[in-house]
Amino acid sequence: MAEKLKAMRGTHDILPEEAAVWRRIEDRFVTLCGRYGFSEIRIPIFEATELFERGTGFATDVVQKEMYTFPDKKGRSLSLRPEATPSVIRAYLEHNLARRAKVAKFFYMGPMFRYDRPGAGRYRQFHQLGIEIVGTASPAADAEAVKLLWDYLSSIGLTGLKIRLNTLGGPDCRVKYSGVVKDFLKDNLDRLCSDCHDRFERNPLRVLDCKNKGCRAVIAETPEIASILCPECVEHFERVERYLEAAKIDFYVDPKLVRGLDYYTRTVFEVIHESAGEDLALGGGGRYDQLVKEVGGPDTPAVGFSLGLERVVLALKEEGSADVAGGGPDVYIAPAGEGAWEAAFELAGRLRECFRVWMEFEPRKLENQLRTASRMGARYTAIVGEDEIRQGVIGLKNMESGEQTTVGSGDVVTWLSRKLGG
Ligand code: AMP
Repeated sequence: MAEKLKAMRGTHDILPEEAAVWRRIEDRFVTLCGRYGFSEIRIPIFEATELFERGTGFATDVVQKEMYTFPDKKGRSLSLRPEATPSVIRAYLEHNLARRAKVAKFFYMGPMFRYDRPGAGRYRQFHQLGIEIVGTASPAADAEAVKLLWDYLSSIGLTGLKIRLNTLGGPDCRVKYSGVVKDFLKDNLDRLCSDCHDRFERNPLRVLDCKNKGCRAVIAETPEIASILCPECVEHFERVERYLEAAKIDFYVDPKLVRGLDYYTRTVFEVIHESAGEDLALGGGGRYDQLVKEVGGPDTPAVGFSLGLERVVLALKEEGSADVAGGGPDVYIAPAGEGAWEAAFELAGRLRECFRVWMEFEPRKLENQLRTASRMGARYTAIVGEDEIRQGVIGLKNMESGEQTTVGSGDVVTWLSRKLGG
């Protein structure tokens, strides 16, 4: 036998049982986004590398260390998308979507790729769903993004959620704060880890995100942004807070929240699930008022978030809410005898217009088929035997009560509809 091949490290299969959970939570996202007035956008899996260098940010870890970048046959540098936001904005500009409405609201879902160190809830191909609101600087848009995130996670059954909120200030405040942080860190470099030395050079604000214990002590002493924020940024943040309070969202302000991507300005947020004694970041986002310009468009404010689906499923499992009820077929069709197969096949076709139907491919004894139907959780078994065919009827067995009835073949859809509510 040839050697078995395995999925690549950092990728994973979503097997049928779990895929049903994914389907449920993806469908829920689509429905909720519709209610909030978001339209779906589907963007390519790969793009010109330059898009992410400009959009995600040349100095970020994502672009510097984690992108799957390769030349195509013509030597152009392409990258698998590590996130969706730059592509959504590229599409927005390329198709001039600003022409249609002042504010555009998109949602997306799909795989993202980062050459990360695989671990619990950390993959190289992972899946995100997210939204972008493009064309408004209003704090109400920041609040709507957080509210949708909150509603969505609550509606799929998660509890134990908290929103971490902060502001990084507008471009001017951010640059000023970055300078303050850099000055402070310069005097404390000997207490920082080697990664943070690197961050100090490339983007000092990223040091605030380090999980290293020694670094955390330095971070705790670092001046907070509140000390340098301009009145407009203060006002914007206070309005976001007031909206979230009005919506009764469980949030707290964490003055050291910076997030991993460089494009955020003003509001940033993260949603945390407290699972198994540890805080798990399910997703996050913020305002990115400079990105559209970076990608070659006019000055256009925007805000968005993305959620990691692997982490959401992990949190659902932690809470024991990852079960999908009713996975079995509505009707299991059991052909009994050689001459019953065509009639059973025809019946399956008719029933599949309304119900979930399972039918075997190989002849098996009726009793074995009934056992399988029961194990699969089928609600009814339709017995199609040669005698039944001659009489123009179907035997229907209720798998829960064991009760069996004979119904005319032409009436079977109506009969089952009444019983199953289909
Ligand atoms: P980001 O796009 O970096 O803001 O991340 C948003 C969310 O995507 C995170 O909170 C995670 O839930 C998820 N995520 C990011 N990177 C990974 C990864 N390597 N594996 C699994 N999920 C990820």
